[in-house]
Amino acid sequence: MSSNDTAKQPTAVMNTYARFPETMVRGEGVYLFDAENRRYLDFYTGIAVNALGHCHPHLVKCLQDQAAKLWHVSNLYHIEDQERLAKRLTAHSFADVAFFPNTGAEALEGLIKLARRYHFVTGNPQRWRIITASGAFHGRSLATISAANNPKHLEGFGPKVEGFDHVPFGNMNELRAAITEETAAILVEPIQGEGGINAAEMGYLKELRRCADEFGLLLILDEVQCGNGRTGKMWAHEWAEIKPDALATAKGLGGGFPVAAILATNDAAQGLTPGTHGTTFGGNPLAMAVANAVLDVLEGDGFMDHVIAVSGYLDQKLAGLVERHPTIFTAKKGFGLMLGLKCTDAITNGDIIGAAKAEGLLLVGASDNVIRILPPLTIENSHVDDAIAILDKVAAAQARRKVRTND
Ligand SMILES: *Cc1c(COP(=O)(O)O)cnc(C)c1O
Repeated sequence: MSSNDTAKQPTAVMNTYARFPETMVRGEGVYLFDAENRRYLDFYTGIAVNALGHCHPHLVKCLQDQAAKLWHVSNLYHIEDQERLAKRLTAHSFADVAFFPNTGAEALEGLIKLARRYHFVTGNPQRWRIITASGAFHGRSLATISAANNPKHLEGFGPKVEGFDHVPFGNMNELRAAITEETAAILVEPIQGEGGINAAEMGYLKELRRCADEFGLLLILDEVQCGNGRTGKMWAHEWAEIKPDALATAKGLGGGFPVAAILATNDAAQGLTPGTHGTTFGGNPLAMAVANAVLDVLEGDGFMDHVIAVSGYLDQKLAGLVERHPTIFTAKKGFGLMLGLKCTDAITNGDIIGAAKAEGLLLVGASDNVIRILPPLTIENSHVDDAIAILDKVAAAQARRKVRTND
């Protein structure tokens, strides 16, 4: 975005985001509408948040009903819908218990604290370091930028939070070599989002589980982006048939309402006793009502089958797109509805994202010149066809432009 765009509209909002010039004012299913009433097919969903599209009638109804009943009481009292959501999230997962923060970064902070406390209360207080992977993204708090170790996010913010050891994503030898007597846990994303839609090999996830068991470490997963049905299973790690000790999730969990969760086994969570961790807003009745409503849909008959079927269709169409435009795209990445297109060095992901937006299709960038494709889980094959038609048109135009500039 050029500085001219920002100059157009003086704003009282702090200058922390490079925003597109459009203002989005309304959402309806898989479509977003801007202030000029232009319609866009939303294949980025506020970065994997609007998992059921915009203004899903069931979510709207549950939110409105709850808004007329009770908004907030804090965690000094029991909250019915919090108990209910925890029961539902743990019922069909590795976990026994849930804790509800508000954002992904908070969920990761909680996971880090959980891992350190676990070893503290089980007699190994010297175990407090966590091994993390290159290309990771865990949020923007001081501890989570230190965990991910992206220099762009760390610059100018003073000394890093201590306690993180970084190894290349996917490399077991280096990970094993990094384990010391102080290691408490391994933390990875099953599919890295911001890092460029890098899906962990199933064998890597299995090896991480084996390695954690061998050394008495906790395996903690960041499923903030890849969880909540995005891959056609509730949790991405289920595809590898492993069980972590704890995970963090957020983005799709509230379908657009800010809510996050930490799920853990009783064993892993044993250090988090009354007084050790908390949040004022976390798990409040409004958030819990909406997250329960999202689960109603995710748990619906055939819903995950739909995600798997439509993601298979999209995946196949993206493969064709890459084949047709070899000067623009080098590869298709990811799986489920967490997909990406890697661009060639000849163009930037931003060129394609901007041109697609002008044609009415919204996408989002990631590191490594990757375009992220994160549509609502409710899309149909016809929406895939519309998106692919736009991408074909945009890629062909970019390829023609490239030929001209090369002349
Ligand atoms: C978005 C994201 C986070 C941070 O979530 P916030 O709600 O922005 O704090 C953490 N981890 C992953 C994998 C994410 O995609």
